[in-house]
Amino acid sequence: MKLLLFDIDGILLKNIHSKSVPSVSKILIKKHFGVEIDPKKVYVSGMTDRGALIARLKGAGIKNPENDPRLEVAIKDFVNVTKELIDEHGVEQVEGVEELLKKLQNEKVVLGVLTGNTPDRAKLKLESANLWHYFKVGAFGHNTVVRSELVAIAIKDAKEKTGISFKKKDVFIIGDTIRDIQCAREGGVKVVAVATGKEDLETLKKEKPDFAFRDFNDIDSIIQVLV
Ligand SMILES: [Mg+2]
Repeated sequence: MKLLLFDIDGILLKNIHSKSVPSVSKILIKKHFGVEIDPKKVYVSGMTDRGALIARLKGAGIKNPENDPRLEVAIKDFVNVTKELIDEHGVEQVEGVEELLKKLQNEKVVLGVLTGNTPDRAKLKLESANLWHYFKVGAFGHNTVVRSELVAIAIKDAKEKTGISFKKKDVFIIGDTIRDIQCAREGGVKVVAVATGKEDLETLKKEKPDFAFRDFNDIDSIIQVLV
């Protein structure tokens, strides 16, 4: 039995950040700290929501955001701002990923999400894309800035939900960023990189993931490495 942990942004859902869609952290920082930020200034792909917010606040010259009470208020508000953006701009599945999830349901695997998103935000986004119901297990980015800590959290959650104690060699992360690959390595589990997010296949391959794919077109090959 394998435990498959899917990243959300860039793997299950298309990144909604574009010129026409403002970034959630930009809105939150403006709302709770009264500061305008340039989202391009700090590269946050693959960071947890908490980590990304802290990095951006520091980038905007806010001192010690970790100890600022406004940070917790802003983190709780992530879901509300996300809801407003989804209502306005919608949310889209990455092509082919639902077909993969459907096929994996017939295999000896447990499906989970491992994401930097806060839990309520992850649920909202995946429910909006009709993907939430595929996942039994979850590790979320609301209480850590260290992404690799999410691996142990996911394995513990899997034990509670399924009764199975997964060995690290049977755990895979499916992610679209270098940070996902590093997270798997630090967490001692395997990683399948798929270049459906911001980073291209060559960039991902340089980090030496266990397996790498350009997209979800070749579902049979992906299933072969995952089960
Ligand atoms: Mg991602």
